[in-house]
Amino acid sequence: MSKKRPYSHVKKQREIKELQNNICIVCLNTEKKEARGHHLIPYSEDGSNNILNFTTLCNSCHIKYHAGKLNIDIYRF
Ligand SMILES: [Zn+2]
Ligand SMILES: [Zn+2]
Repeated sequence: MSKKRPYSHVKKQREIKELQNNICIVCLNTEKKEARGHHLIPYSEDGSNNILNFTTLCNSCHIKYHAGKLNIDIYRF
């Protein structure tokens, strides 16, 4: 499905979680172990590794978002 992300992306995903205190921007879940660094523009669509291209979602919102079940415009956040 997706190409393997280079370390620069993995590192930024870690950074954004720290910056946003591991808080899910959708449901405001604050559990650190649930936090996921999410690409606004997916890596598979040439999304950059600029920190602005990342945000924090919890695991369940992340899964829902990628399954198209989250009815929000994430760019507004
Ligand atoms: Zn959430
Ligand atoms: Zn994602």
